[in-house]
Amino acid sequence: MSNRGTIRLVGVRIVDGTGAEPVKDGEIVATDGRLTYVGPRRDRPGGPAPVRTVDGGGRTVLPGFFDTHVHATIAIEDGPRSVIADSGSYAAYKTAQRLRATLDAGITTIRDLGGLDHGTQRALAEGLIEGPRARIAVSVLSPTGGHADMTLPNGLLMPVVSGPSLHLVDTDDDVITTVRKLLRSGADVIKVCTTGGVSSPTDQPDDLGVTEHQIRLIRAELDRHSRPRQIAAHAQGTAGILAAIRGGVDSVEHGYEIDQEGIDLMLEKGTWLVPTLSAALRVPDPALVPAYLYEKKVRWSAKARENIAKAIAAGVKIALGTDVGVCPHGRNLLELSHLVELGMTPADAIAAGTANAAELLGLADEAGTLEPGKAADLVVVSGDPLRDISVLADPDSIELVVQEGKVVKDLLPAEEPGLARSA
Ligand SMILES: [Zn+2]
Repeated sequence: MSNRGTIRLVGVRIVDGTGAEPVKDGEIVATDGRLTYVGPRRDRPGGPAPVRTVDGGGRTVLPGFFDTHVHATIAIEDGPRSVIADSGSYAAYKTAQRLRATLDAGITTIRDLGGLDHGTQRALAEGLIEGPRARIAVSVLSPTGGHADMTLPNGLLMPVVSGPSLHLVDTDDDVITTVRKLLRSGADVIKVCTTGGVSSPTDQPDDLGVTEHQIRLIRAELDRHSRPRQIAAHAQGTAGILAAIRGGVDSVEHGYEIDQEGIDLMLEKGTWLVPTLSAALRVPDPALVPAYLYEKKVRWSAKARENIAKAIAAGVKIALGTDVGVCPHGRNLLELSHLVELGMTPADAIAAGTANAAELLGLADEAGTLEPGKAADLVVVSGDPLRDISVLADPDSIELVVQEGKVVKDLLPAEEPGLARSA
């Protein structure tokens, strides 16, 4: 960790992500990227002299948020022509721009479930580009003709994504070899499709994909390595959701048609649900997407609304994930409003995007709550998200973003009465 000095934030309402009552007139101190004090405002700050004091003017500070399901390299509504026309370098700059917009939206950690590679992850970690810290799947696995297969009936490839971010696996040997190659490529998580999907041209969301048996093979493969890695399953129809849970995935992505059996199994096994409501509930402009996609979207939106609400009510563990790339980038925290719309309290929705998401990603010791010792990742928002969760949806109301102690976005007004700042 580079020396980032000390930053002190005062005059803030602290929602620390642990579920504790908010601290009304709070103070947060971070030194060299780590939180050293989180609590009521003190008359005299302890520790080293702050290099910078920021007065939040009564705003709310929360942990930096997680989006556990993104596709930073994709913007499906830019249309196929943009993918055909992109050279690799241009696509990389566009990805960097999206990652920056994600950070501006209050997201300090992402899990990219297909597309982002080790090079971009490294560029982020080294500060060559600004964006969230990233966990990556690199690629998506499905059988031929399944969700990762963008081949049209005439044999031509539909240009939805560029680069080697899709892998077709049919036999058990295909699965094992592909997983080994992905680990070699730096994957932190293996993304499988146990069902078809909405955006793929020749399958349906209730078709079956990678099998329960193959998920067990992947788990055995991951267990050969000392570093823990996860399995995330794209699963939309009921049968594929059950296959994913029984096979032992860490998270079910989407889960739109989850039934009572699936809910009970998830509760029993502690499986996470990442409901990606930003993608599910948003019906795109029919002029911007292929007809098959529009038709599937309308049908599966309604299913998602009904079944995800049941899973939330039953107490299934939920982590925030949006599927941006399939829906627009840079408004990730609109997902919180959708979670509340389907029955969560604002506090529970915030936990889904902070402490819970950190637990899913194995980063609970590092981030997800505002506690001394953890990374100083935080966002300051005008308004009180515990009363009105929608304030977090608008990136313009995310006025300050701090990542590992470094101010990466600052829209706080310089001249506000009672707001004192020292450089
Ligand atoms: Zn996705």
